[in-house]
Amino acid sequence: MLHETIESALNRQVNAELAAAHQYLAMAAYFYESDLSGFASWMRAQSAEEHAHANRLINYLIDRGGHTELDAIKRPQVNFGSPLEVFEKALETERENTRSINEIYGLATSHSDFTTQSHLTWFLDEQVEEEKSLGEIVSLVTLTSDDASALLHLNSQLGSRQPGASDKKA
Ligand code: MG
Repeated sequence: MLHETIESALNRQVNAELAAAHQYLAMAAYFYESDLSGFASWMRAQSAEEHAHANRLINYLIDRGGHTELDAIKRPQVNFGSPLEVFEKALETERENTRSINEIYGLATSHSDFTTQSHLTWFLDEQVEEEKSLGEIVSLVTLTSDDASALLHLNSQLGSRQPGASDKKA
């Protein structure tokens, strides 16, 4: 039986994953509007991945006999000043997500809930990947500075990402 503290924490995390999916979709729209369709499709794949994370947690709640309680998703940021600003915000979103999963892992540890710990291990590993790939993109976008051709090259490189490609363990 899932402890109610763990159940609520997992529900908050479901909502955080959905909020991230929503934020990344807004970023995809911003990039499409800016004619950077490579960045846009990368963000769309990222959004789909966050949605899959929410479903993975919901499946776990169901498997453990818990209750899933969806909440309203807060309005995402929809206006951005530059591609760099978008990717920096995305990196911050992932860092926040890592902190939140670490916190739930800590809670599961204090309740000796080894099953939840085991389930969350996948998420912890995934966060290492997320922060790594976004950290790299932030560095690369920073390096392009005001060089439009370098930015367009990166745009087409990121556009080759397949949905779920970075989500090898899913
Ligand atoms: Mg996620």
